Amino acid sequence: MAATIDYISDQANIKECRHCGLRYDWRRSPSTSLKMTYCGSLCEQADLGFTIDALLRVERAPRAEEAVAAAPMLMAA
Ligand SMILES: [Zn+2]
Repeated sequence: MAATIDYISDQANIKECRHCGLRYDWRRSPSTSLKMTYCGSLCEQADLGFTIDALLRVERAPRAEEAVAAAPMLMAA
C-alpha cells in the first residue's frame, strides 16, 4: 500500500524541465530557486544565462560591504 501512495505522490511532483524536457521530481532538483521549472542549475543557467542563486549573491554582496564599511563608524561613535 505504501508503495502505491509513493507512486501517486511521485507522479504529482513530476515536472518537465523547460530547458531539456527531462521529466524529473522537482523535490529532488538540485536547482534551489527554480526547482519547478528546471531539472537542475545547469539547465537554469543555460536558459537564463545565470542562476537565481548567483543573482541573489550578487545583489546581497554590496549590502554586506556596506555593513562592513559602517562598522568602524559605529565603533568610533
Ligand atoms: Zn533540464
